[in-house]
Amino acid sequence: MVKVVKFGGSSLASAGQFAKAGDIIRSEESRRYVVPSAPGKRNAKDMKVTDMLYACYAAAEAEEDFKLKLKKIKERYDAIINGLNLKLSLEAEFQKIAENFQKKAGADYAASRGEYLNGIIMASYLGYEFIDAAEVVFFDKNGEFEAEKTNKALSRRLKKSERAVIPGFYGAKEDGTVCTFSRGGSDITGSIVAKAAGADVYENWTDVSGFLIADPRIIENPEVIRVITYRELRELSYMGATVLHEDAVFPVRKEGIPINIRNTNQPDEKGTLIVESTCHHSKYTITGIAGKKGFVAVNIDKDMMNSEVGFGRKVLSAFEQNGISFEHMPSGIDTMTVFVHQEEFEGKEQQVLSAIHRIAQPDTIDLEADLALIAVVGRGMRSTRGTAGRIFSALSHANVNVKMIDQGSSELNIIIGVANQDFETAIRAIYDIFVTTQL
Ligand code: ASP
Repeated sequence: MVKVVKFGGSSLASAGQFAKAGDIIRSEESRRYVVPSAPGKRNAKDMKVTDMLYACYAAAEAEEDFKLKLKKIKERYDAIINGLNLKLSLEAEFQKIAENFQKKAGADYAASRGEYLNGIIMASYLGYEFIDAAEVVFFDKNGEFEAEKTNKALSRRLKKSERAVIPGFYGAKEDGTVCTFSRGGSDITGSIVAKAAGADVYENWTDVSGFLIADPRIIENPEVIRVITYRELRELSYMGATVLHEDAVFPVRKEGIPINIRNTNQPDEKGTLIVESTCHHSKYTITGIAGKKGFVAVNIDKDMMNSEVGFGRKVLSAFEQNGISFEHMPSGIDTMTVFVHQEEFEGKEQQVLSAIHRIAQPDTIDLEADLALIAVVGRGMRSTRGTAGRIFSALSHANVNVKMIDQGSSELNIIIGVANQDFETAIRAIYDIFVTTQL
């Protein structure tokens, strides 16, 4: 059994958190490959080391004095080293970093030092080998991740190492220039390492006990989802529920390697298992609820629209010409509505309207702003009657007016459009009917 374990920034923010991670790793022989993030926040007012590095490098680039900022970063690491009683000095490393900052080695290089240094500490603390991600994770000239080249080099390298620490978030181009993934990218490295190691599971250790059924800012103490499929996860993440970097599923998904989200502060909890497919029934009919505010409905009317071949295409081409993607498109006989992101749409509103008039010649177009979309997601809905009925009766009892309904043919989700101001009420009503009252 081989497990790849990735620890997020808050799990490695201090010596105390490092020790928890160390206990977790040592408690199972199979936890052979470790991917650390940079130290995160120790409390709400704290700053992530990655952000400190970006700020420090910005000062260097502006040719301001950056030494004090760098010293503060070193102090974060020294506190961890001393707290763990390690005989390790990062003096020479910081010397080199200061020189490279002076030479303007780039913001990616700067940010990557957060995980690099944490990796050195982690390897020393565990007695594992340190493998610099710059030697095994590759990006092309344009900064695009090179999956195949990486997988080849990394699997070869891991075969030679029984136990190793590979820092997350970065890699290098062929010429050695350091490149990072987007923010939160250590999740991706964990997944890449899991694939290359042929791991049985990719454990992603963070500060929550898994993926929650609903947003805890709206629902008090929502339950944790035990098992979720990649497709369900995608639906929920798209609607704003984030625990994992979106791109982290790709390397492991094709290999059938499950991702287990775990809580470093509650290691006995099983967390959420993300799988390709499962016959494990979810505890409730729905797996999760997520949503986003800030949509506009563009309502288009035209008599005899239903018999005009190509009308939909013409309307959508007006959006396409203006670089606006649409979310949903419910339609009636002589009406059609296109849901778009308000932020994206606002600046181009009049151009889009005139393009629709020009291309499709509708009778009227009317706009409705400040709408929210809510996705009720669950593989269990396919085999259950009355799910939609329960959602709508719950919403009507909560006095929420439903503006739009969209159920895909996969029966994996039902999307509901409501006014922004009804968003929280609607989510609470749906959670209550499927979860609270089912206990
Ligand atoms: N340290 C990086 C960030 O703050 C990457 C990560 O934590 O995954 O975004």
